[in-house]
Amino acid sequence: MIEKLALIGIGLIGSSIARAARREGLVQTIAIATRRQATLDEAKALGLGDIYTLDAGEAVEGADLVILCSPVGTYEAVARQIAPHLKPGAIVSDVGSVKGHVLTAVGPHLPEGVDFVPAHPMAGTEYSGPAAGFASLFENRWCILTPPEGASEAAIEKVTAFWKGLGSDVEIMDAEHHDLVVAIVSHVPHLIAYNIVGTADDLETVTKSEVIKFSAGGFRDFTRIAASDPVMWRDVFLTNRDAVLEMLGRFLEDLSVLQRAVRVGDGEALEALFTRTRDIRRSIIEAGQETAAPDFGRPHGDGK
Ligand code: NAP
Repeated sequence: MIEKLALIGIGLIGSSIARAARREGLVQTIAIATRRQATLDEAKALGLGDIYTLDAGEAVEGADLVILCSPVGTYEAVARQIAPHLKPGAIVSDVGSVKGHVLTAVGPHLPEGVDFVPAHPMAGTEYSGPAAGFASLFENRWCILTPPEGASEAAIEKVTAFWKGLGSDVEIMDAEHHDLVVAIVSHVPHLIAYNIVGTADDLETVTKSEVIKFSAGGFRDFTRIAASDPVMWRDVFLTNRDAVLEMLGRFLEDLSVLQRAVRVGDGEALEALFTRTRDIRRSIIEAGQETAAPDFGRPHGDGK
C-alpha cells in the first residue's frame, strides 16, 4: 500500500495507472500534475485522483512514489522541477518508452536519499489523453524495470510489487539492452508504419480515396500504429537514436534481400521467410500477448 502516489502527466498511461491503482487498492492518495488546465479539468471530471495541480513540485510533496507519465522529452525539466520537493525515502519512477536517455535526463537531478527505479510498461493503444486510459491496460502485459547500478533492493521490490498489483509481469534488465529490444519490437515497427502510411498518402498514381477505400488489403493495420501520438513518438526517435539506427540498418539489409527475391522471382526464398514469420505470430498468440481471433478480433456480420 502506497500512502501518496504522484503522477506527473495524466494521459493514456498516467490515467490507466490511476484507475488500476485505485481499483486494486494500492494507494491511499493520488496527486495529479499536468501541463494544461484543460487536461487537469478532464482528469478531475473523470475522478482520477484526489489532488490536482499544474505544479509538479506541489504534487510530489510528501509522495512515497512519483511516476513520470509525460513524454520522454519533458523528463529533464520535470526532474529539475520536482527535485527540491521530494521527501527523503521517496521513490521516483517513470513509464518512458526509452530507458538509456532517462538515466541521464532524470538520475543526476535527484537528491540524495531518493531512489530512482525507471520502468516501461509494454502496453498501450493509439489513443491519448486522460479519457483514453482504462484499468485493465497493464493486465498480462510485461513491465520492464531498468534500475541503475546501486539502486536500492527495497525500492526495486516496491516498484515490482506496484506493477504486479496493476496486473503486469515484471522483468528487470539494463537500460541499454532494453533500448535495443524495444527498437526492434516497437520503435522500428512504428517507423515502418509511419513511413508506409506517408508513402501511400504521397502517391500520385493511386488516389488517396482508393487507398482509404481498399485499405482492408493490409494497409489499415499499419494505420492503427501510425495514428499513435506524434509528440510521444517524436521524443522516442530523438532519444533512442543509436538503437533505432542499429535495428533499422539490419532491417534495410534484409529488405534488400527480399527486394532481390521479388525481382528475380525467388519463390522458394519468399515462401521460406513467410513460413518462418507465421510461426512467430503463433508463438505470440501462445504466449498470451495477442488474440487468436481472426482479423485481430474485428467483429464481422456473420458473427465470425
Ligand atoms: P499522452 O496520452 O499524450 O499524455 C501525455 C501527458 O503528459 C498529458 O497529460 C500531458 O499534459 C502531459 N505532459 C506533457 N508535457 C508535460 C510537462 N511538461 N509537464 C507535465 N505534464 C506534461 O501520452 P501517453 O501515451 O500517456 O505517454 C506518456 C508516456 O508513456 C511517454 O513517456 C511514453 O513514452 C510512455 N509510454 C506510452 C505508451 C503508449 O502506447 N502510449 C506505452 C508505454 C509507455 P497536457 O495534456 O496537459 O499537455
